[in-house]
This record gives sequence, structure tokens and C-alpha cells, in this order.
Amino acid sequence: MGIPKHSKYLIIGAGIHGLSTAYHLALQLKANGQGSGKDILVVDKSGIAAGATGIACGVIRNNYFQPAMRELMAHSVNVWDSDPETYSYHPVGYMQISPEVMHENVASIAKQQKEIGYESVFIEGESDSMKYMQGLFHDWQAKEITSVLHEKRGGYANNVKSMQGLASKVEAQGVQIISDVTVTGFQYANESDSIKAVETNQGTIECDYVVIGAGPWVKTFWDMLELPKTVSIKQPDGKIVNDVPMWIYWSLQEGTLGVDPDIQKTNDGGFPPVVHVDSVAPLYSDKTGDLITNKMWGIYYKPDFNFGGIQGGAAPFKVNEDPNKVDIDPYGSESPHYIVDDDFVEMWVSALAHCQKRFEGTLPQYKREPSGGLGCFTPDSFPVFDVFKDNCYIIADSNHGYKMLGIGQLVAEEICGTTSSLLEPFRFARYAQGKLHPVSNSPYPWS
Ligand SMILES: Cc1cc2nc3c(=O)[nH]c(=O)nc-3n(C[C@H](O)[C@H](O)[C@H](O)COP(=O)(O)OP(=O)(O)OC[C@H]3O[C@@H](n4cnc5c(N)ncnc54)[C@H](O)[C@@H]3O)c2cc1C
Repeated sequence: MGIPKHSKYLIIGAGIHGLSTAYHLALQLKANGQGSGKDILVVDKSGIAAGATGIACGVIRNNYFQPAMRELMAHSVNVWDSDPETYSYHPVGYMQISPEVMHENVASIAKQQKEIGYESVFIEGESDSMKYMQGLFHDWQAKEITSVLHEKRGGYANNVKSMQGLASKVEAQGVQIISDVTVTGFQYANESDSIKAVETNQGTIECDYVVIGAGPWVKTFWDMLELPKTVSIKQPDGKIVNDVPMWIYWSLQEGTLGVDPDIQKTNDGGFPPVVHVDSVAPLYSDKTGDLITNKMWGIYYKPDFNFGGIQGGAAPFKVNEDPNKVDIDPYGSESPHYIVDDDFVEMWVSALAHCQKRFEGTLPQYKREPSGGLGCFTPDSFPVFDVFKDNCYIIADSNHGYKMLGIGQLVAEEICGTTSSLLEPFRFARYAQGKLHPVSNSPYPWS
């Protein structure tokens, strides 16, 4: 049996956004009497969770300096909370542990979390921060920390298992998900900008509406649709910066320390929140004692039975190659280029030991397997959620997206005719209009 020749709604990509959109669109079509899941087809060149979603650390947090991002994340956490079992979601909470240079930014996040009713505790001052952390982990020893934001909601989910759960919900709505279908081009209705069909390696599929959730492959689709390769960005002072490349790649740095995850239990024997530490304290190698860096650094980690140890990462780095020449495939652990190296391993494990004594001397237990992966980022490193070519919704999350399970719900609402105020700040036109998001002092491109 070949692939269908027509589908009213064609969704490209079976990652978190494609699947979440399919599920919520099916529910909304049915609720509005506009159709059902049978009107939706999801295609993927590989299969469910074959892209960034399937290798993500799976951390879910609210901690963002940008109000629009925070509100979006609060919405997504509600969606995670709606079915933790199927989504393989562990609502253990999340901590942002910061040096003085970030204090003011994080204080404003804490204040605004209160205003939107997102439960968190905010601790200020070096000695109170140390006391709070040692109340959780007796061996906490990170230096020069002056604030702790402890979000009581959020946590992490098991990357592939959560997508299998979501896919089962999608299929239960009558949606078809077909693997091994590579989209290669688009056909347009005569003299119009509307897509009338999608070309694939298995034939052409006619459709009324297309959704693209292609993660790191978004630039490939952007180019296929002949959308602008560069943008002009209006700066806060009114000046226009021209010819900014639309897409750049970053290499994400993550790995697993192969110790028993139980060693990271809290003082009272419970599972701890996800820990994220940013620091300006000099970082020394746990192996040689040599200085690794005296610049700002950051790590995050959690005990994770799925990964089989303490899993987490550090700040990513920008891929300097011309974005047109970056090889996205083979992706993830299969990539010969974009996986972590020994420098990451020594830095990350040394940083773990800097924070908690229990990790001192554990470097030999690091799991020597390929990890990490590419992310495709927009010019300001914030998502673009918008409609192009009349009937093509592009979900380009700029690599913020595993936590964004709710985007599919909001996109589905927009497809059914209701504009989402939560998505409005993420339109493509913001670059030309200068409606940019505020920038924080964090070392990460997505904070
Ligand atoms: C190492 C790493 C760790 C991360 N950790 C986190 C985290 O802890 N928390 C967080 O919130 N985010 C995290 N992210 C970001 C997050 O994983 C992504 O933002 C998100 O998964 C993107 O989802 P997606 O559905 O857009 O894309 P993907 O999951 O990449 O799915 C895209 C799909 O499109 C398919 N596809 C591509 N081209 C074609 C084609 N031509 N035809 C048909 N199908 C095609 C692919 O096979 C793929 O399955 C991490 C990312 C990486 C790389």
C-alpha cells in the first residue's frame, strides 16, 4: 500500500511539535465539528522522535528572562501536567542557581513568576543560598552563588518514551503517522502562494494545509519554500541591521556520568529537582587540578534512570561553518562532527564536582558514548511560529522546544481560526518591526 494521495492537513516531522500539533488539531477539529484525526497525516523521513526530540535531555522549566517565553512555558507545563503518565513526565521541579551578575535578572523572573501564579521559591544572598542548597544536598559546595530560584513545577521527561506516549494519543484520534517519507519539495496552486501538494520520495500528496515541525532541518524547508536567507533587524535604538543570516547552528553539549542515579537523592531520600548552575567562580579540573576556565560557565544535571546515570549538559557552542554547508545528517549520536569531545567531559564532570562533593573523582565513570547534537537557531535565538505561503505553518522553536509540549495546542487553535496571544510575540515580522525580546546575562543562547 502506497502513501495517501491526499490529506487535508499534512504535518511534516514526527517530533514533539509535529505530534503535539497532530493530537491537538484532531481534538479541536472534532470539538468544532470541522473534521477529525482522519483528516490529518504526519510524515517523517525516519520515524517518531528521530530528530532533536529523541536526544533531548528532556528538561522542562519556566525560568526565562523574557516574559513572553515564561508565559508560553507556563502554558506548556500545564500540558505536561495534564497526563504525566503517558508523557513519561517527572514533575520534580527545577533550580536556577546563579552568581551575582545574574541576581537582578533572576529576581525579576521570580517576581514575574509570582505575578503569573507559577510556584517558586527565591533565595538571595551567598550564605542563605548555601544554606538552602545544603538543606537539599548535604555536600553542596559551589562557590560565589548569590541566588537560588527553585521552581516547584517542571522537571524532566523521558525523551523517546514521552513521544511514544504522545504518538499513541495521536493515533487513537485516527491520525496516520507514516515513517520513511522524505519531503523533497512543494507544488503551488496556479499564480498563488498556496501550497497545493507536497512532493516526497514516495510520491506526491495533495493537501489543503501544511505544518512543518522539522527541528534542526528547518533551514532545509525554509530554503525549499524560497523564504529570505537573511533578515533586517530593527534595533532598540531604531537602527536597522541588514543581512543577518536567518539560520545558524549551535552544537549542544550533553552527556551522562555512569554512576547509580540514586546517589543524587536529596537529604530526605527523595528525587531532586533538575539543577542548573551558572557560575563565575574559577573552575578547576577534577582530574589534574588545572584551571579549566575563569570565565562564566554553566551546567545542568539530573539523576536519570532512562539515560542510566547523572545526565545533563553545559553551554553549547556556535558552529562557525557556513550554515549552507553544515551536515545535519547523519543526526545526533550518528554524526561524525557534532557530538561532545573530551573537553566537554572534563569540564562538565569537574563542574559537577565543583558543585557537589559526591561527584569528586567520578570522571572515569563518565559514559564514553556519542552524545549531544545540532540545533538550528533563529537570528535572536527565540522561536518563530508563523504562517508562510498562505497555508504553511512553520514551527521553528530555535531549540527551546522539548519543554514546549503546548505549542502544538496553540498552533492547532490558530489553524482552526483563533489567534493565540501567547504566540503573537513570536512572529517573523518582529525582526523588521523591532519587537525583540529582552536579552539576559546568562551564558546560554536560550535563556
Ligand atoms: C542534545 C539536545 C538536548 C536538548 N535538550 C533539551 C531540553 O532538555 N529541554 C528542551 O526544552 N529542549 C531541548 N532541546 C531542544 C529540543 O530537543 C528541540 O527544540 C525540539 O525537540 C524540536 O522538536 P521538533 O519537533 O521541532 O523537531 P525534531 O524532534 O527534530 O523533529 C523533526 C522531525 O522532522 C523529520 N524530518 C526532517 N526532514 C524531513 C524531511 N525532508 N521529510 C520528512 N521528515 C523530515 C526528522 O526525521 C525529525 O523526526 C535539546 C536539543 C538537543 C539537540
